[in-house]
Amino acid sequence: MRNVAILGATGSIGASVLDVIARHPDRFRASVLAAHRKVDELVALCLRFKPDLAVIADAALETALRDKLVAAGLATRAAAGMQALNDAASGELCDSVVAAIVGAAGLESTLAAARAGKRLLLANKESVVMAGPLLLDAVHAGGGELIPVDSEHNAIFQCLPGGRPDLAAAGVRRILLTASGGPFRGKKRADLAAITPDQACAHPKWNMGRKISVDSATLMNKGLEVIEAHWLFGATPMQIEVVVHPQSLVHSLVEYADGSVLAQLGNPDMRTALAHALAWPERIDAGVAPLDLVKSGALQFEAPDRDTFRCLDLAYRALVEGGTAPTVLNAANEVAVGAFLEGSLPFLAIAELIEATLDAISAEPVAGIEHLVHVDLTARNVAQRKMRQEFC
Ligand code: NDP
Repeated sequence: MRNVAILGATGSIGASVLDVIARHPDRFRASVLAAHRKVDELVALCLRFKPDLAVIADAALETALRDKLVAAGLATRAAAGMQALNDAASGELCDSVVAAIVGAAGLESTLAAARAGKRLLLANKESVVMAGPLLLDAVHAGGGELIPVDSEHNAIFQCLPGGRPDLAAAGVRRILLTASGGPFRGKKRADLAAITPDQACAHPKWNMGRKISVDSATLMNKGLEVIEAHWLFGATPMQIEVVVHPQSLVHSLVEYADGSVLAQLGNPDMRTALAHALAWPERIDAGVAPLDLVKSGALQFEAPDRDTFRCLDLAYRALVEGGTAPTVLNAANEVAVGAFLEGSLPFLAIAELIEATLDAISAEPVAGIEHLVHVDLTARNVAQRKMRQEFC
C-alpha cells in the first residue's frame, strides 16, 4: 500500500489524483491532504478519504480546520502553516508526494519531499523552473525518485529509455513539446487587447486552475515547460522545440538520431499522467476513456506564433541567460498573471511586464535556496513597482 500526500488537494490536479486513488483502494491511500485556504473543501475531502493528517497552509485557519474535523466526527489530525506543510511532505505519514500547489508557494514543500526521499509526483512546474538544479540535487541526496506529471514531461519520460537517460548516450536528437495553442490560437495582437480573465481561462482542451490556464493562453506555460524539460531531461535549449498541436492528443515526442520519433498519445486528461506516475513502472486504470483515433480525425501540427505570444521567447531567453533568470521570469509572471486575473493588468501587458523585469535584474549564478528566495522576492517587488509606474 502506498501512502500518498497530496499538496494542493483542493485544486484541479488534486481532484484528478484523488479520482485515480479512489479507483485503487487496494494500492493507494490518501494519507495527507493539504490546501491553502479552502477549509470546507478540505474537510469534505477528509470525509471522503479519511487521511491521517489535513494541513491548511494559512496558519490563521488552524482552529477552523480542527473544529470542523472534530464536528465531522473525523480522527484526521489538523496542522497549519508552511512548516507543517514541509513536515507533512517529508514525514512518516507518506511515501509518495503529489506536488500540486500552484506557483512558487510550492517550492519549499517540493524540496522537502525530495530531500526526504519520497516518490515525488511533480506537477508544480514553477519549483523546477525556479530551482531546477537544487531540486535535482535534493532528489539525488534523498535517494527517492521524481516522476513528472506535467502531461508533456510525463510523455517524454515515457518515450525515453529508463525515463531519464543521458540524452547523448541514448541517441536523442530533440525533444518536441506539444502545445495546444490555448484559447487564442490564430489570434493576432490586435485581437487580444481587451481579453478578460474568463476568456483567458476558457481553455479549449484542458480543465485546469486559473493561473495555469492564463499561462496556457499566453504560451508562458509552454515556456515554463521548456525550462522544466531542460532540467528534467538534460536537453539544451536548442534541443527543445515547441510544436502547436490543437487536438492535444499527442502529449509530446522524442526524436532519435536514426530518425525515429516516439510519441505518447492519449485523451487530454491528467489522470493518465497521474496514474502512470503513481504506479510506475506498472500500469493501472486511470478512468480515462480509450483514445479513438478514427473518431478523433486529423492531427494538426504548426509552429507557434512567437510574435503574438511573446512569453515563449522570454522563457527561452531566461533559460539561455541561466542562473537566477528563470526565477525572475517565474516571479514576474506570477505577479503579472495575478494582476491580470484581478483585472488590473491588460492581457498583452503580461509579456511586457515580464520583459521589463528581466531587463531590470541581471542574472547571477545561483548560490543556494535562500538566494533564490531572495531573488524571487526582489523580482516580485520590481515587477509590482513597474506595474504601478508603467502599466496601470
Ligand atoms: P489549482 O489552482 O486548481 O489548485 C491549486 C492548489 O494549490 C489548491 O489546492 C490551493 O489551495 C493550493 N495552494 C494555492 N496556494 C497555496 C499556498 N500558498 N500554499 C499552499 N497551497 C496552496 O491549480 P492546478 O491544480 O491547476 O495546478 C497546480 C500545479 O500543477 C501548478 O503548478 C500547475 O502549473 C501544475 N499543473 C496543472 C495541470 C492541470 O491540469 N491543472 C497540468 C500540469 C501541471 P486552495 O484551494 O485552498 O486555494
